[in-house]
Amino acid sequence: MIPFTFKSTIASASGLDEGPRADSWGITSPEKTREERADLPFPGETARLANVRPADWRNPTPQALYQLLVIGAGPAGLLAARAAAVLGARVALIERDQLGGDCVNDGCIPSKSLIRTGRLMADMRNAANFGAMPPTELAFDFRAAMLRMRRITARISRRNSAMNLARDGVDLFFGHARFTGSDTVDVDGLPLRFKKALIATGAHPMLPDIPGLAEAGYLTNETVFDLKVLPRSILVIGGGPLGCELAQVFARFGARTIISHSEPLFLPKEERDAAQMVSDALARDGVEIHLNSTVVKVAVENGRKVIELCNDGNTATTVVDEILTGIGRTPAVQGLGLETAGVAYDAESGIHVDDFLRTSNVRIYAAGDVCLEHQFTNTAEASARIVVRNALFFGRKRMSALTVPWCTYTDPEVAHVGMYVKEARRQRIPVKTFTIPMHDVDRAVADSEEYGFVKIHVREGTDRILGATIVARHAGEMINTVSLAMVAGIGLRAMSSVVHAYPTQCTAIRQAADAYVRTRLSPRILRWARRWLRR
Ligand SMILES: Cc1cc2nc3c(=O)[nH]c(=O)nc-3n(C[C@H](O)[C@H](O)[C@H](O)COP(=O)(O)OP(=O)(O)OC[C@H]3O[C@@H](n4cnc5c(N)ncnc54)[C@H](O)[C@@H]3O)c2cc1C
Repeated sequence: MIPFTFKSTIASASGLDEGPRADSWGITSPEKTREERADLPFPGETARLANVRPADWRNPTPQALYQLLVIGAGPAGLLAARAAAVLGARVALIERDQLGGDCVNDGCIPSKSLIRTGRLMADMRNAANFGAMPPTELAFDFRAAMLRMRRITARISRRNSAMNLARDGVDLFFGHARFTGSDTVDVDGLPLRFKKALIATGAHPMLPDIPGLAEAGYLTNETVFDLKVLPRSILVIGGGPLGCELAQVFARFGARTIISHSEPLFLPKEERDAAQMVSDALARDGVEIHLNSTVVKVAVENGRKVIELCNDGNTATTVVDEILTGIGRTPAVQGLGLETAGVAYDAESGIHVDDFLRTSNVRIYAAGDVCLEHQFTNTAEASARIVVRNALFFGRKRMSALTVPWCTYTDPEVAHVGMYVKEARRQRIPVKTFTIPMHDVDRAVADSEEYGFVKIHVREGTDRILGATIVARHAGEMINTVSLAMVAGIGLRAMSSVVHAYPTQCTAIRQAADAYVRTRLSPRILRWARRWLRR
C-alpha cells in the first residue's frame, strides 16, 4: 500500500449540504493513514438507503387491475410510474434492488461527483498558471471524495424516494418481477394483473472473457463506487465513455492508471478528431494508453494482478492492484419470463420494440437501456414519456422523432447531437461543416480552456442543422443550444442573429453560424454592397 495519509475529521460527513470548502472535495491535509480509514463505514449510506430501499418497507396489497405496471425503477421506470400516477392512473412499480437504477446508484451521479473532484485536483495542479500559489505538496483524501459522492447521491435519491412515490399514488413493490402470462406478473410470489405494462429493466455491465480475470477479481460500475481505498494502480479495460471518464478520474486522484482499448481510437462512435482530443487529454493527465490492445491473460502474484496485454502480436506485461472493466452494457432480459408473455427479444440488443416502443405483446411496452441503442438517462426518460402517452392515451409518439444529445464527461467533454458526417454520407445527404476551434473563442482563451472545437454540420446549400459535435470543457452544457435549435427548426442563419452574453464559451456556436452566413455573401452581393457604400 502507498504511504498515503488522511485528515482525521471529515467536514460535514453526515450532512447533505454542499459547500465550496476544499476539504469537502476530498482534498485535505494528511493526518491518518489510508489503512486506518479504509474500514470505516460510509456515513451517507444510511440516508441513501432510506430513500432507495427502506429497510422497513412493506409491499402494499395489490389492486385488482393496474392500468400501468412498470418493471424496473431506474430513470425510465420512475418517470413513467410517477407521470402516470400523477395523471390519475392505477400504477404498480416493481424494483428488485434500489430505486434510481444505474443513474443514481452506480452510474451518472457517482461518476460525475468524482469527476468534479478530479477536475479540481487538475485545476489545483495547474494553479500557478493562474497566479494562485499552490501548496508545496497537494494531498488527496480519497475517502472524503467518496463521502462527498455519497452525500450527493443520497441527496439526489430523495427526489424519487419510496416515500415520495407512495405520496404520488404509486403502489411500490420491492421484489423480482417475472411475467406469468400475457397480462400477469409475479413479484416474489405475489400475483399482479395489468392492462398495460412497461419493461424498464435497464442493462448490466458486459464482462470480458479473459482467462484468469474472474479468479483475479475485477471492478465494474456496480462495485467501483464502493472502493474505500484509492488503488495504487488500476487497469481500465475499455475506452468507451465509462472507461475514459473513470481512467481520467483515477489518474487525477494520483493512481497509476493504464487504459487498454481494442480499437485504434477511444470513443468509437465519436468523430475521429474528438476521440483524438480525449486521447491527448488522458495522456496529459498521465494515463498510460494502450490502443489497439487486448488483455489476453490475468494472473495473481503476491496479491497483485499481473496483466498480459497484446498489441499487434507483441505481448507486454504490467502489474496493477485493481482492474476496472467498462467494455459495454448488456440489456437486462434474463429471468423476466419474456417467452411466457410473448415478448420478443435477443440477448444483444434486448427487447424488440417498434417506433412507438410497443413490444410483440400489444399490452407491453419497453423503454430505456433494455431496448434502446443509445443507453443514456435522458434517452431512458424521453422514451418513458413516449410510453405513457402511447400506452395510456392512444398517443402516436415516435422514438425516431426525438433529438437526443449526449456527452462524455472527460475533460474536455465530448458532446454530440444529431447526425455524424459518416452517417449523413451513408444516407447520401450532402453535408457542409462549420468548425470553430475553441482557441478562437475569447472566453475559452480567458479561462485557459482552449482545447476543443465546435463543429456544426448542415445540409449543403441550406442552413438546416443535421448534427453537431462539441469538444470543450463545458461541451455538455453547450450542446443543448444546438439541440434546441434542431428541435425548434432554427437554422444557422437565425442562430447567427442571436445575441449571446459576452464573453461566453457558447459564443462559439454563434461564430459557427456567422461562418455560415459569410458563405451566403456571394460575389454579386459583395459587389453591390461595395458599390452602394462608395456612393
Ligand atoms: C458509470 C456510468 C456512468 C453513466 N453516466 C451517464 C451520464 O453521464 N449521462 C447519461 O445520460 N447516462 C449515463 N449513464 C447511463 C445511465 O445510467 C443509463 O442509461 C440509465 O440509468 C438507464 O435507465 P433505465 O431506467 O433504462 O435502466 P436502469 O437505470 O438500469 O434501471 C433498471 C432498474 O430495473 C431493475 N430491474 C431489473 N430487472 C428487474 C426485475 N426482473 N424485477 C424488478 N426490477 C428489475 C434494476 O434493479 C434497476 O434498478 C451512465 C452509466 C454508467 C454505468
